[in-house]
Amino acid sequence: MNEGRCVKCGSCLRACPVLNDPSGTQFPGPRTVGVDAPRFLEKGSVGQNALRCTMCHACEWACPSGMTLTRSMLQLRSELSGDLLPGHRRMVGNVASFGRTVATEFNGWREEGERVLYFPGCIGLGRLTGLTESVSSLLTSLGIAHDISREALCCGSPLLKIGVTELAEDLRRRNAEVFSRYDRIITSCPGCTYQLREVYGVEAEHIIEVLRGSDLRSNLEGRWALQVPCHLKRGLSPWTADDLAAILGKAGVDVVRMPEEDSCCGGGGGMLSGFPETSGSLARGKVEIYRRAGVEGVITACPFCSLNLGREGARVLDIGEAITLKH
Ligand code: SF4
Ligand code: SF4
Repeated sequence: MNEGRCVKCGSCLRACPVLNDPSGTQFPGPRTVGVDAPRFLEKGSVGQNALRCTMCHACEWACPSGMTLTRSMLQLRSELSGDLLPGHRRMVGNVASFGRTVATEFNGWREEGERVLYFPGCIGLGRLTGLTESVSSLLTSLGIAHDISREALCCGSPLLKIGVTELAEDLRRRNAEVFSRYDRIITSCPGCTYQLREVYGVEAEHIIEVLRGSDLRSNLEGRWALQVPCHLKRGLSPWTADDLAAILGKAGVDVVRMPEEDSCCGGGGGMLSGFPETSGSLARGKVEIYRRAGVEGVITACPFCSLNLGREGARVLDIGEAITLKH
């Protein structure tokens, strides 16, 4: 706990996309939830409004005192009592009955006993199966023979975000058994990458890291903006945005860099299922910025960003859909 070092400067409040969105007025903010509540307030007094946060890490990045705000907010979520929000209840019910947060639509399983596991995550196996097929084809063309195992379940990250810790731990145990059969794990969802590294202690690689240095090409025309995933840039590596731009630029994509490229799309932290109005409002704000910039569309490396911006009408491609191997 490091709450004692808060100097009440307000930088976290100014950086928070939810607090600065018209739909976010009920969110008490990172200082109240991450600093004051654990120290001074009754446990649970901030209630479910503590969940109105996308876990984008922007507050933590802005804090001059190095406060671990997201960790503190996650801890508080695990101590909240009371009913789950309807969207979160649905998600937990899905995990309890079939091991993933959304219904599985993918049927291109690869279970050949390879030493590399491609772990697409729940959205890649449910709502965005085309993304998963593209990344899998790309890996194959790079000479990376891999499995996509139906035994690998939700990584548990969405459950930890809403404070459901026991079920998340159960998933961790079951996945750890599957992971033990592989030498290398590749992900395309930054939330999974973060969870596997920070909670499982597995050195999972995100697809951006795999593609660095490869000889790639793209057939995309026009100018494309980036949507840089929060969990990658602020959670795991500050170089993510530059890596994404470099891979695409080298492949021939005309990439437009924008100051807003790494601001949160609103899709993470359980917001999409728990508070869809705020999630949608944040995404609409970003879509409008991209529209005004006159770009063809947006390239990202996160299924949640693809899903949430796509819902609000943006043309969104995952990096796995934007490039192929040079022949
Ligand atoms: S993690 Fe993001 S949404 Fe949550 S309080 Fe911090 S800045 Fe706001
Ligand atoms: S940015 Fe850090 S030091 Fe400043 S108010 Fe927020 S938590 Fe406190």
